[in-house]
Amino acid sequence: MFTVERHEYDVVVIGAGGAGLRAAIEARQQGKRTAIVCKSLFGKAHTVMAEGGAAAAMGNVNSDDNWMVHFRDTMRGGKFLNNWRMAELHAKEAPDRVWELEAWGALFDRTKDGKISQRNFGGHEYPRLAHVGDRTGLEMIRTLQQRVVALQQEDFEVHGDYEAYIKVFAECTVTRLLKDGDAISGAFAYWRETGKFIVFDAPAVVLATGGIGKSFVVTSNSWEYTGDGHALALLAGAQLINMEFIQFHPTGMVWPPSVRGILVTESVRGDGGVLRNSEGRRFMFDYIPDVFKDKYATTEEEGDRWYTDQANNRRPPELLPRDEVARAINSEVKAGRGSPQGGVFLDVSSRLPAAEIIKRLPSMHHQFKELADVDITAEPMQVGPTCHYVMGGVEVDADTAAASVPGLFAAGEVSGGMHGSNRLGGNSLSDLLVFGRRAGAGAAAYVDSLGGRRPQVTGVEEAHAEAVAPLERQGGENPYEVHHELQRTMNDLVGIIRKENEVAEALQVVEKLKERATNTTAPGGKIYNPGWHLAIDLRNMLLVSECVAKAALLRQESRGGHTRDDYPAMEPEWRRRLLVCSAKPDGSEVQVVEKTQVSMRADLITLFDRAELSKYLTEEELAEYDAAAK
Ligand code: FAD
Repeated sequence: MFTVERHEYDVVVIGAGGAGLRAAIEARQQGKRTAIVCKSLFGKAHTVMAEGGAAAAMGNVNSDDNWMVHFRDTMRGGKFLNNWRMAELHAKEAPDRVWELEAWGALFDRTKDGKISQRNFGGHEYPRLAHVGDRTGLEMIRTLQQRVVALQQEDFEVHGDYEAYIKVFAECTVTRLLKDGDAISGAFAYWRETGKFIVFDAPAVVLATGGIGKSFVVTSNSWEYTGDGHALALLAGAQLINMEFIQFHPTGMVWPPSVRGILVTESVRGDGGVLRNSEGRRFMFDYIPDVFKDKYATTEEEGDRWYTDQANNRRPPELLPRDEVARAINSEVKAGRGSPQGGVFLDVSSRLPAAEIIKRLPSMHHQFKELADVDITAEPMQVGPTCHYVMGGVEVDADTAAASVPGLFAAGEVSGGMHGSNRLGGNSLSDLLVFGRRAGAGAAAYVDSLGGRRPQVTGVEEAHAEAVAPLERQGGENPYEVHHELQRTMNDLVGIIRKENEVAEALQVVEKLKERATNTTAPGGKIYNPGWHLAIDLRNMLLVSECVAKAALLRQESRGGHTRDDYPAMEPEWRRRLLVCSAKPDGSEVQVVEKTQVSMRADLITLFDRAELSKYLTEEELAEYDAAAK
């Protein structure tokens, strides 16, 4: 026999980053009793680490900006593989979500005439990122948390209990979604500190668990990002989409080894930072792909002029989408033109006065001084690619954020489709707000549709047995060793540049690691036992890695965050083919099947020039375009 705490809610939101908080606020505003569950401390999520800003076409700095330009940029960035309905909703609704944050107390940086300031970022045609220095995510989380507290205060006034309608369960990890037949009925979790178990009884669950970076050695992601939401969805019978597309951010720290992978914000380049190789060459001019040739400066002089005159010059190629810059850095290092510690040089010191750098990039200045003893106001940084973001995730309905399993919703980085094969910087923070709100609303509407009927909670004993297994085994595998081997394998064989034989080898290793992971031991009992926590997380990382590798093997082309050395071209036929992963409830038999991309609505496709589309679309699709344009 075992004991569990039980809690009943209408909606359980797993994750307290931007997507989770926005979803929870919406569900509560729609009158639903809502739990927010998060693996680490409340307020510690990747969203807090986001530096650059939230992309929203408010047109404050350049009045030519509007949702259609933002939509086009997002689709281009994702190499037209995006779920276009999500990209449309995102571009249209992002400004309202940013203004809403302001109304809830966010203090964005201002333009001279007092509007919310917006900065340049890779792939965005106009200055578009609403920001707070380089600490935008922190302000976003502070504001959303403040909104949660305001709602709790309202509830106290009415019900005499702050937590009557919205309660936070921090340092609490969900290990299984519970079901009644096909539908969601709750979630099973444990308190990290005590190891005690909790059952959430709820007809609707919103996944907002963020990314998967901890499957790779070099990553900007912190310890929580083990792909839990991706795996929970898969095990509950939902599908994952686009899992082959992983964003390797071009600029992570490369030195010292203990901080390798920590992010160097794209704002450094947005604010004028240039990339140089060991020969002092601004090499990005050598890497402008054909599809972007007409949009980027071809000389240093033009690129430099753009910072002061954007109407008459094209942007510098340091601001190409992230996948392009990451591949270029990788090629320079491979060609022997890297920096002493295996990266390239990123220099903002020769472009901006020291005081301006400290004002615009305070966190970067602090980070390099403290961690690497480098003063970025006086010398260049050394940077290289780092696993940063997963474009793939739970396949959802664009309007409601509903997954295929009744009662399951997903928003933010754990969901898939919005960013296609490559996310533009700044589009994540706005994605969290737009689809977080929609997921909260979707979950609330679903609960209403049940008319008071509550699905039965089942599967608790199985979930408990699975969770305690590593504690009860004797003399098994060390989870840290299995994890380390997985990270090395994914980094080396399914990393930034992929080859058929290497990915196939990775899959064999993952298969063996899955076997070893079923035999991990975590001595030391249930009370704050990180080895046990990792043993549980391993199931998720292995499942997600299997999906990434299987999809990467199948996609025989290069596009966005998926580069195949043996298939270097982007193929129009592949744009129409989406890869969808599913698995059995025990995590065995991960299957990847193809699905045809739905044709873009006529009013959206005609926002593009035919000449541009001809670089991405098949002849058949171009014929559809011609018919729509008539
Ligand atoms: P997160 O903010 O990642 O939160 C996930 C939540 O889920 C956490 O609360 C976590 O504890 C919880 N969780 C996970 N698993 C479980 C579980 N099993 N049980 C319970 N809880 C769980 N994007 C931009 O648009 N602009 C930027 O400037 C930018 N800068 C970035 C800088 C860094 C260093 C990083 C790492 C990312 C950056 N990004 C940026 C990307 C962006 O921050 C993330 O994609 C985004 O914040 C993800 O938000 P989310 O709400 O989906 O999840």
